Amino acid sequence: MSDAESTLITGIGELISNDGEPDDGQPDDGEPENGLPGSFAAMTDAALVIAGGKVAWTGPASRAPAADAVVDVAGRAVLPGFADSHAHLVFAGERSAEFAARMAGRPYQAGGILGTVEATRAAPDAALRANLRRLAAEMLRQGTTTFECKSGYGLTVPDEARGLALAAEVTPEVTYLGAHVVPPEFAADPAGYVDLVCGPMLDACAPSARWVDVFCEDGAFGADEAAAVLAAGQAAGLHARVHANQLGPGPGVRVAAEAGAASADHCTFLTDDDVDALTSTPVVATLLPGVEFSCRQPFPQARRLLDAGAVVALATDCNPGSSFTSSMPFCIALAVREMGMTTEEAVWAATAGGARALRRTDIGHLGVGARADLILLDAPSHTYLAYRPGVPQIAAVWQAGSLVAGAVP
Ligand SMILES: [Zn+2]
Repeated sequence: MSDAESTLITGIGELISNDGEPDDGQPDDGEPENGLPGSFAAMTDAALVIAGGKVAWTGPASRAPAADAVVDVAGRAVLPGFADSHAHLVFAGERSAEFAARMAGRPYQAGGILGTVEATRAAPDAALRANLRRLAAEMLRQGTTTFECKSGYGLTVPDEARGLALAAEVTPEVTYLGAHVVPPEFAADPAGYVDLVCGPMLDACAPSARWVDVFCEDGAFGADEAAAVLAAGQAAGLHARVHANQLGPGPGVRVAAEAGAASADHCTFLTDDDVDALTSTPVVATLLPGVEFSCRQPFPQARRLLDAGAVVALATDCNPGSSFTSSMPFCIALAVREMGMTTEEAVWAATAGGARALRRTDIGHLGVGARADLILLDAPSHTYLAYRPGVPQIAAVWQAGSLVAGAVP
């Protein structure tokens, strides 16, 4: 579709716009702030016009304006493309044996990352690129129109820089995660590795990245080290996000709040102080239920966060170790079934919540002017994403107004 053409999508059984009005004046309810996506909102018997790659009009189908092309979706649901704000897609190898062993009773340890580091360092660019593109295409078919991608399996200056350059080929949301784990060659000198991450490695990586991230956890990086990594990244122009409180209680959420991070990710083990930090600052609580599913761990307490007023996002954490799913519909189903989220909250968290975690105003909603990233479900409502788990229901995907996956049935 050229910019001059407009397309009317009509016959929409349920249009999820995330363009709702403020409801109670609280800063935590998804209301529009600084142009960010609004609260969950759904309209039946709706239509939407795409022009110039953006949403040009939404409203009742009976009042839809004329357009150059008309698509009738016969009562199916349309929602914003998923925004997966947490993924590790630059890697080689796989760890299915580790998964099988864990299911047989062996607990997950962060050290499993090192097997992927070894395979990634040994892989040629072409192999890393092919794997990355395969996963990106897999995400798109499942409705993810924006995804974040981290480095973190290179852990040398050239390998981290290579990972980020590859990631930048497929997404603007590129995250420098040199501080994923201390590599074996620095086992006796972790402080030396932090110096490398904050110095020469950052210099080589910052040009390809938008974000800096750190795995703040026992066995990875402590509070002071994590704060130093984030501060160095921010001084280089990057924005902060944090792997926080995944394996146990710890300082990750506090570090994220103090650094002004966009998001604290995992949030599986939270104290009341952590919940307070997530409700009194703009830090998004990004929950990654694929991890708890794949590691057979207790799920994060989404209900506790939402009831306290935190902004919650859902993401896949797609990676070969702790969560090898690229499916946002699967994460939505888990969030609803296992984490006490309503279907509306889960879909909002997977779309507008992800946009917030990426500080994006142009995605995650279908208000006029938003990028026309949208999903056509082969189902009449968003509820089906959780109601029919494991069933492929993404009929078609548009990205910036172009049909990029599937077809209108
Ligand atoms: Zn992660």
